[in-house]
Amino acid sequence: MSHDQAFWLPFTANRAFWKSPRVITGARGHYYTTDDGRQLLDGFSGLWTSGLGHCHPQIVAAVQEQVATLDYAMSFQVSNDKAIALAREVAALAPAGMGKVFFTNSGSESVDTALKIALAYHRARGEGQRTRLIGRERGYHGVNFGGLSVGGIPGNRKVFSTALLPGVDHLRHTYSAADMAFSKGQPAWGAQLADDLERLAALHDASNIAAVIVEPVAGSTGILVPPIGYLARLRELCDRYGILLIFDEVITAFGRVGAPFASTRFGVTPDLITTAKGLTNGVVPMGAVIVRDTIYDALMQGPEHVVELFHGYTYSGHPLAAAAGLATLAAYREEDSFARARGVEPVFEEMIHSLRGEPNVVDIRNFGLMGGIELAPRDGAPGARGFDVFLKCFEAGVVIRNGGDILQFSPFLDSTPDELGRIFDTVRQAIRSVA
Ligand code: PMP
Repeated sequence: MSHDQAFWLPFTANRAFWKSPRVITGARGHYYTTDDGRQLLDGFSGLWTSGLGHCHPQIVAAVQEQVATLDYAMSFQVSNDKAIALAREVAALAPAGMGKVFFTNSGSESVDTALKIALAYHRARGEGQRTRLIGRERGYHGVNFGGLSVGGIPGNRKVFSTALLPGVDHLRHTYSAADMAFSKGQPAWGAQLADDLERLAALHDASNIAAVIVEPVAGSTGILVPPIGYLARLRELCDRYGILLIFDEVITAFGRVGAPFASTRFGVTPDLITTAKGLTNGVVPMGAVIVRDTIYDALMQGPEHVVELFHGYTYSGHPLAAAAGLATLAAYREEDSFARARGVEPVFEEMIHSLRGEPNVVDIRNFGLMGGIELAPRDGAPGARGFDVFLKCFEAGVVIRNGGDILQFSPFLDSTPDELGRIFDTVRQAIRSVA
């Protein structure tokens, strides 16, 4: 086997990929450059990561300066100035009462960290029997064993099924084509779906349940927007039963829904928030779990010299990532990115919904600058039509993403109507050409 093809790509059909590799060699602003010299308009902001655009000059400069100043320092019993500063800024953006920040290196690590903090919290309060975790069907919480266990994507789970965590259940998902197809923004129907938690509370006794984790807006499984009132109802039930509520905001934090967090936009405050991606604009890998003060306080008992939480990563609070994070948050502020995204949202909504009526389009969903176009699967080949549209768009110079037959969109926070027009014209042509 030639080592030219040694890279085993994640979440990729590798054999097909290597027949005609798509290779990016550069990026600037809203465009990628490929190894064959083409310019591609990025309609996905990296992988939901890069809302400010690629190679943002201030972030590049901050990372360059940091790497020449302090390349690495551990965060075990020692810290670094950039990590301390970034935690302070993230806490200041977070909902009131959520003032503690635990750094990780990815969304998956943030999720597993949040689940572990939830378990540690209950144990510290003398409720060590609260170990059950509840996710949701069609939830995506990364690929580590905790996140995989609470995740609800059959394809991700099936190979590893016997190795998943025990004591995990799933709420039903919030999608119903009959009740919400083509609704714009939040569907009016479906708040009562949150009551599914009552079923699990009754089944196991609520006193055994540690936490519920959901994405406020499910991203990877095709932009499932929470029905109006759904998240508030989930919050209410968690409060009633003493269950911690975790919002996985790896996609939705830092401007993707036109606010610092989806929690902010929906006005529902969870107990823990997981983040990654937009924290550093994707420039250096980093994640963070934002934690309610009361959870932190519950864990800060016992003798002061004893480590309170036996958990952490070699690269927690890495100075390069933290410098990228500080520059990213500064750019969001200076460019008023979150308000700008709110301004782009109505244009995005109108354009994405203009594809209604195109061949095989069975639903269109949007919230913030997240959008999905669902195509009817081709007979006997689920996902093939979606992939063909992705390929056609790539060939035509626009990068989108397909999750099976659901086309996904995540434009830059400062997208122009012209750019959005080009993205959706390209997609329209592609959908027609594969019909
Ligand atoms: N949670 C959510 C909601 C995500 O969308 C993702 C990644 N798209 C993850 C967790 C996992 O993040 P990572 O790939 O950085 O591990």
